[in-house]
Amino acid sequence: MNISIDGDRCIGSGQCALTAPGVFTQDDDGFSELLPGRADGGGDPMVREAARACPVQAISVED
Ligand code: SF4
Repeated sequence: MNISIDGDRCIGSGQCALTAPGVFTQDDDGFSELLPGRADGGGDPMVREAARACPVQAISVED
């Protein structure tokens, strides 16, 4: 799995960090970023749910 976040789309709603807090966090400005070493999702089953929860489809998940 490879996760990417489109920083141009992200509006900082925080849904990803709420849904999968083991993978996503928010930077000082509130925008989404991946926790260190978690670009592969770390096997977290909530990653896809977090991508679906994003209101602006800023999160891409590839197998
Ligand atoms: S859910 Fe989407 S818009 Fe909200 S912080 Fe995460 S990536 Fe950004």
